[in-house]
Amino acid sequence: MSKVLIIGCGGVANVAIRKCCQCDDLFTDICIASRTKSKCDAVKADLEGKTKTRITTAQVDADDASQVAALIREYQPDLVMNIALPYQDLAIMDACLECGVNYLDTANYEPEDLSDPAWRAQYEKRCKEEGFSAYFDYSYQWAYKEKFEKAGLTALLGTGFDPGVTQAYCAYAQKHLFDEIDTIDILDCNGGDHGYPFATNFNPEVNLREVSAPGSYWENGHWVEIPAMSIKREYDFDQVGHKDMYLLHHEEIESLAKNIPGVKRIRFFMTFGQSYLTHMKCLENVGMLSTEPVEFEGHKIVPIQFLKALLPDPASLGPRTVGKTNIGCIFTGKKDGKEKTAYIYNVCDHQECYKEVGSQAISYTTGVPAMVGAMMLLTGKWNKPGVYTVEEFDPDPYMDALNKWGLPWQIDENPALVD
Ligand code: NDP
Repeated sequence: MSKVLIIGCGGVANVAIRKCCQCDDLFTDICIASRTKSKCDAVKADLEGKTKTRITTAQVDADDASQVAALIREYQPDLVMNIALPYQDLAIMDACLECGVNYLDTANYEPEDLSDPAWRAQYEKRCKEEGFSAYFDYSYQWAYKEKFEKAGLTALLGTGFDPGVTQAYCAYAQKHLFDEIDTIDILDCNGGDHGYPFATNFNPEVNLREVSAPGSYWENGHWVEIPAMSIKREYDFDQVGHKDMYLLHHEEIESLAKNIPGVKRIRFFMTFGQSYLTHMKCLENVGMLSTEPVEFEGHKIVPIQFLKALLPDPASLGPRTVGKTNIGCIFTGKKDGKEKTAYIYNVCDHQECYKEVGSQAISYTTGVPAMVGAMMLLTGKWNKPGVYTVEEFDPDPYMDALNKWGLPWQIDENPALVD
C-alpha cells in the first residue's frame, strides 16, 4: 500500500502512470499533478475501471517549491516522482525536504534560463574546472546530499533508461561479471521510424539542447571534449541492424566515473539518421535552437520554445512509430585474471509498447524504469538516506523488476567492440 505523487503528465509520465496502475497492489493511490490539469484528468478518465489504483489529479506549477510543498502536505504521499522537466528538479527536491518525503527523477538538473547570471558564473567555473561544457551536471543535486542524509530521506536521481537502466547494467556487471571494468561504451540505438522528416522522441527542447552540445567522454581520469557530432561510428545492433552513431556528452558518465572503481574510459553513443542531423544543423544555423529570447512584433519569443510548438508532440508519435530500440552497455575488463567482454542490453519494439500503453518505445523505456525505481524505494529494497544515482544501489532487485515489468535484458558475452 502506498501513495505516490507524480509530477508531470507528458510522454514519459503517461507510461510511468500506466505501469504503476498495472501494479495496483503496491501503487494503491496516485495523484497526477502537472501544469496543465486537463491532461491529468484525461489520463485518469482513460484508466478508470482498468485498475484498482485510486487516482486523483491536481494542478501545480512545479517551478514554485511552495506550491509543490502545499500539494505534498495536502496529499501526504510516501514518494514524489518528478517526471516533469529537468528545470523543476531543485524546486521539487526543496519541497520534498520541507515536507519530509522521498524523491526520484529521470534527468539531472539544468536551468531553463541559461542567461541567469548567478547560474552562468557557476557554470563557467565548472566548465573550466571539469572540462565539459554541457548545461547539465550533477553538482546542483549532489549539493543536496547532506540535507537528505540529515532528514533521513532518499533522493534517487535519473531512473529512466539512460540515465537509469544503463547504470543498473554497470552495477550488475561489476557485481556479477567482472573483477575489474576497464571500459564502458553506452550505446543508445533507436531504429524506430515515425514517418516525419523531423521530430524528437522526448521533450524537443531538452532533446535538442542535449544533442546540439559538444560531445565529451571520460578517459584516464579526465574529460575529453569534442565538437558536436564529430566522432561517428557504425554498429550492427541485434534486431535493428547497421546504424550510424555519434559520441555525445551524457550525464551518467559523470556519476559512473566516480562510482566504478578503476574504470579507464566511459563513452556514450546515440544513433541518428541523416535526415535528423541535416534538419538539426539547419535549425541551429538559422538560430532556431537558441534559448535567448528575441523580440518579434512586440513579443519576446524564445526560438527553441517556438520550435517546440511547431514540432510533433512526442506523445503523439506512438501510433506511427515502427521498429525497435536497442540500448545497453558494452564492457571490457577482467574476470579471474582473464580478459572479458560483455554487452548487456534491452531490445524494445515501438508497436508493442503502443499496444500495451499507447506510447512509443522512448517514452516506454523511460517510464518503466521510473516505476521500477519507485518500486525499489516504496518496498524498502533500496533504502539509504542521501542523494544517489542508480549504480549506487544493489542492482539485483531492479534488474529482476525490469524483466518482470516490460524491459527484459540479455547478455552477449562476445559482442563486437566499438573502436
Ligand atoms: P514532456 O514535455 O512530454 O512532458 C513534460 C511534462 O511536465 C508535461 O506534462 C508538462 O506540462 C510538465 N511540466 C513542465 N513544466 C512544468 C511545471 N513548471 N510544473 C508542472 N509541470 C510541468 O516531456 P517527456 O515526458 O518527454 O520527458 C519527461 C522527463 O523525462 C524529462 O525530464 C526528460 O528529460 C526525461 N527523459 C529521461 C530519459 C532517460 O532515459 N533518463 C529519456 C527521455 C526523457 P504541460 O503539459 O503543461 O507542458
